[in-house]
Amino acid sequence: MDRPPALVLMYHQIVPDPMPRGWVPSRLADSRYGVRLSDFRRQMESLRNRGVPVVSLEDWLAGRSPSSPFSTGVCILTFDDGYESDHDLAAPVLDSMGFPATFFVSTGFLGMPGMLTPEKVVSLSGNPLFRIGSHGVSHRFLSQLSDRECRMELAGSLVRIRELTGQTEVDLSAPGGRTGPDLLRLAVSVGYRCLMTSEPGVLHSADDLFSIPRLPVLRHHAVAQFARLSDPSTFSFRMNRWIRSGRKSVRKMMDRVREISGRPLA
Ligand SMILES: [Zn+2]
Repeated sequence: MDRPPALVLMYHQIVPDPMPRGWVPSRLADSRYGVRLSDFRRQMESLRNRGVPVVSLEDWLAGRSPSSPFSTGVCILTFDDGYESDHDLAAPVLDSMGFPATFFVSTGFLGMPGMLTPEKVVSLSGNPLFRIGSHGVSHRFLSQLSDRECRMELAGSLVRIRELTGQTEVDLSAPGGRTGPDLLRLAVSVGYRCLMTSEPGVLHSADDLFSIPRLPVLRHHAVAQFARLSDPSTFSFRMNRWIRSGRKSVRKMMDRVREISGRPLA
């Protein structure tokens, strides 16, 4: 089947803009991953205005991506961690533009301050544009767990998501982007359909469903930079610069994470 290359974007928290008085970010979030709502809206408008098709993974897999003149590439949108902003801020923008997205939820955090409640997960999944995926239960790095612990994280979140949404097919996004052959094997055996990583790149083949590359959209990425990256005709050309910039930011962020106490998500 002929599928165009897909650039899979990875968002985290969307931050209110302007920030309401007294607004406290989730204690689980790292501000470098928080994209301002106004930037997010402009980024989505940029995709729409330039005619970059935004498709669901299902449509891409089924070969239902728009063909020429857009056969050069499409975008797939994902959100990690399960912030309340998925429902309150991102979803209304996506819905108004008809853009599909998958929200990967760490099910153990549902209902905590700043995170999705079970009711909001149900509400998101009731919109045909949106799917809920798993980001584990506790956001522990799955590749660092024993087989037994990893299986419990994978199965526990899968069951919870199926219970809340009725979805049979559930996708997995690896917390912290930590993957490995053991995780892949367990994800397949537990029944996941695909595994999203944080390795930068473009999805070319349905053979890569358990190593789907994604690009993080970070707070500091300006809209102009975003527009260049998400231009399908220059996916590969622009990729290097974006990857370097993303890696540098993530490296800086991880250094900062090591310095401070707490356990921000990534
Ligand atoms: Zn995460």
